[in-house]
Amino acid sequence: MIPGARLIILGRQGAGKGTQCVRLSRHFVVPHISTGDMLRAAVREGSELGRMAKQVMDAGGLVGDDIMVGIVEDRLNRDDARTRGYILDGFPRTVPQARALDGITSERPIDCVIDLDVPRDLVLARISSRRVCRDCGTNYVSTHGLEKHPWICEVCGGDVMQRDDDTPDAINRRLDLYEEQTSPLIEYYGSDGRLVVVDGVATPDEVFVRLTAAVEAARRPG
Ligand SMILES: [Zn+2]
Repeated sequence: MIPGARLIILGRQGAGKGTQCVRLSRHFVVPHISTGDMLRAAVREGSELGRMAKQVMDAGGLVGDDIMVGIVEDRLNRDDARTRGYILDGFPRTVPQARALDGITSERPIDCVIDLDVPRDLVLARISSRRVCRDCGTNYVSTHGLEKHPWICEVCGGDVMQRDDDTPDAINRRLDLYEEQTSPLIEYYGSDGRLVVVDGVATPDEVFVRLTAAVEAARRPG
């Protein structure tokens, strides 16, 4: 295995992207760069872009493309990302962001864009069965009402509940928004052969094997 990779990972919420990004980041020895983490870091470090982002977020707005692109560009210009690469998670979200990213990475182009594909009905079922301890945040999986009521956390004795935003209506709204935003991106990266669809319906170990094989294949010359 040759360390280093420049990857973009797309996938529905509940597709297992977070877990796989952590594993890929260890495997290829590259930073896992997630939009959310990047924004929080920029705000914490008080960079100019971070201060601009904070103003927008404090006013309840969504951080625009120009600020996001600036934050990503700063991050990709750091030593670790310049020399070894990165896994971009949560960026780009729009075609204008993807075009800007192509400009930023023209000297060191991305190896491939992976669409970690898990069908909508399956992620809906996964997210709907998610439960969490209100006090310590431990995650649980509901066994379709067969669990005891009240459900007490094994770790801290707190109440285990469903998050307000994990109801089927709320999940469907988030999935609709994802499809709406991502289908143009899938077309954008699909049109020039950079998109690799990886079937995410398998055990985490099996999905990881598929992902690393997809990256190796994309990096093979010719
Ligand atoms: Zn707990």
